[in-house]
Amino acid sequence: SAEHPGAPAAWYENDIDRVLVSETEIREKTAALAKQIDADYANTDGLLLVGLFKGAVMFMADLARALTIPVEMEFMALSSYGQRVTSSGVVRVLKDLDTDIKDRDVLVVEDVVDSGLTLSWLLKYLPSRGPRSVEMVSMLRKPKALETGINVKYVGFDVPDEFVVGYGLDYSERYRELPFVGVLKPSVYQSS
Ligand code: 5GP
Ligand code: MG
Ligand code: MG
Repeated sequence: SAEHPGAPAAWYENDIDRVLVSETEIREKTAALAKQIDADYANTDGLLLVGLFKGAVMFMADLARALTIPVEMEFMALSSYGQRVTSSGVVRVLKDLDTDIKDRDVLVVEDVVDSGLTLSWLLKYLPSRGPRSVEMVSMLRKPKALETGINVKYVGFDVPDEFVVGYGLDYSERYRELPFVGVLKPSVYQSS
């Protein structure tokens, strides 16, 4: 590949139409976001990162290591009813937090914010547990998120309204391990 000259062709190379965000861009952006978050939470006694399964796992792991302030890591798994979040924004909690967030500074870590319904719901739900603060960081943001006005404090990259995979994001549970964010070739959807 371009970033690893001389490396053998990866199994997924023929499935990817184009790379939207490269491994290098992800690394540099994560470092920049971490610097900003380090500064914003410099005077707090530990940040609680809450990653959303499964998509945010890669970003969470890299962000946690790029931060220099102490953090704790928690995960939640959320699901909408069926494939889509209903217009009422009702979300089901499949795996809840294992810890009390009372008086904690919480930073929700997400892979991509699209309609923003998932994060809007969390922003209404988490405050009932008495955290000191709740903010959000998303590696990617789609155009719809800007229209709906969801306030994600830290954003890595704005991407077009296309279905992307890699760096945690899947298509039918595949491609999460790709080190970059890319667009799948239509032939992948058509053949399955
Ligand atoms: P929202 O509630 O913001 O509409 O939904 C965001 C969630 O939808 C993400 O956490 C992710 O699971 C899924 N999603 C949205 N866009 C994409 C995409 O382009 N690719 C993948 N793999 N998942 C997406
Ligand atoms: Mg997600
Ligand atoms: Mg998915």
